[in-house]
Amino acid sequence: MVDRLATDDASREDLEVAQVVAEAVAASVGVLPGELAALPSVHASGAALDLVELVLAGVVAGGYSLPTPSTQDAVALPVLSVALPVPAADADAVVAAGRVVVEDDEGVPIALVTVTATSPDSPSGLLVAGEVTGLRPLTHGPFRRLRLTPAQVAALPDQPGLVVTTARPLILDDLSTIAARADGRPVLVLALVGTGRTPYPDAFGLVRALRAGVRGLPDGSLVVPVPLPATTAGASDAGAREAVAQAYADAPTLHTPAATAAELDWLVEQGAGFPEAALAVLRAHRPPADRRGVVLLFTGLSGSGKSTVAHGVAEALQESTDRTVTLLDGDVVRRHLSKGLGFSKEDRDTNVRRIGFVAAEVARHGGVAICAPIAPYDSTRQAVRALVAAAGGELVLVHVSTPLEVCEARDRKGLYAQARAGTLPEFTGISDPYEEPADADLRLDTSSVDVATAVETVLAELRARGLAPTARGEDT
Ligand code: ADP
Repeated sequence: MVDRLATDDASREDLEVAQVVAEAVAASVGVLPGELAALPSVHASGAALDLVELVLAGVVAGGYSLPTPSTQDAVALPVLSVALPVPAADADAVVAAGRVVVEDDEGVPIALVTVTATSPDSPSGLLVAGEVTGLRPLTHGPFRRLRLTPAQVAALPDQPGLVVTTARPLILDDLSTIAARADGRPVLVLALVGTGRTPYPDAFGLVRALRAGVRGLPDGSLVVPVPLPATTAGASDAGAREAVAQAYADAPTLHTPAATAAELDWLVEQGAGFPEAALAVLRAHRPPADRRGVVLLFTGLSGSGKSTVAHGVAEALQESTDRTVTLLDGDVVRRHLSKGLGFSKEDRDTNVRRIGFVAAEVARHGGVAICAPIAPYDSTRQAVRALVAAAGGELVLVHVSTPLEVCEARDRKGLYAQARAGTLPEFTGISDPYEEPADADLRLDTSSVDVATAVETVLAELRARGLAPTARGEDT
């Protein structure tokens, strides 16, 4: 099969080759490796890192370009154009140098951008257009070896007769439609693994299931992971998918419609709808709900009862089920994970993001993470939601909605008194906002329910979603 060209195992030689390539490339762009450090740099992660990869691979043609009205309607005109966002603090240095180094998540320089145009932007600061030169082979992300560029696909002996984009495994119905449309020619399946897409069951599982699924398609069919993020400025998702497919081959395209995780779970549970080999992969990557990772995120004002209920739920789960529990709450987090962070707005936000990161890792390994930060900002809660989804976990958001007057009257730690006196600035509910979640799974007002009832309500929600065994199955 053609995709043997790219094997799955990384090797030491490749890293050595990468180093040699990096030095050669740096020399060819007129910058010695040592000089790179002196150039201004921007750090790319998430969708920005995905887009650097698409530019370097030539999926986005012509490097970075500024958005123009003619590229907005990407459905009619499938051209994917992206610019490099540069934080305001670095903008002057980038403009002065006329060049900027893009670093990956680990701080490794991966690309050099020669700036040809800039445009002020909010919220990033500055958008940069320019030529992009790769500095070394990329190493991050699932199935790196399978990520052929359009040029590499064009060099294959058998050209695809159909290009498919999908963020979910192919079901039997898809496969028969695809086989009919491919008309005996190889099929190129682009597995969408970009930021924000929540591939089902997870990025590795998706690619594995697709590789299992294409075995029934014509010889030469192959799966290429493509990090197209869920949202790309200036292009609809349909337009972006079409543009990517067209960048890969001059062939008809097919884009699988989305399916919810619940719909796919149902198919996997039924054991129907997928080719056998794909089903085996999906079952391994998507355990039944009561063995799947869970993040229970309590949010609410200080003194609303988050910690008290969170501890109650943690105890109940450990006393009566086999689930493993990590409690990420208050002082424990501040002593270890977030030691050194203060209580400024920014530090509090960083604290929640760290909790979310660790919670998502706990979920990745099938555990239950119970977190009780105030988490007053919707954007931060959404970031946690995305991390948990990407780790294949289930987020249960509990808004502890006890009214401010009650929290303040409790004033367990004397914080409200300090906030009212003005000695504690930016205090949520007093001098800083609390953005009520519109996406909470549960709302608990502890001024009207007692602790035991609140704990039981949360446990009932977990059971209803299959995330904890039903009461009958528990020890007593
Ligand atoms: P948070 O973690 O939201 O800051 P805590 O759980 O630390 O809140 O504090 C809540 C306080 O309210 C505790 O002193 C707790 O005993 C009291 N309380 C009174 N009724 C309840 C209830 N029904 N649920 C939770 N806490 C309650």
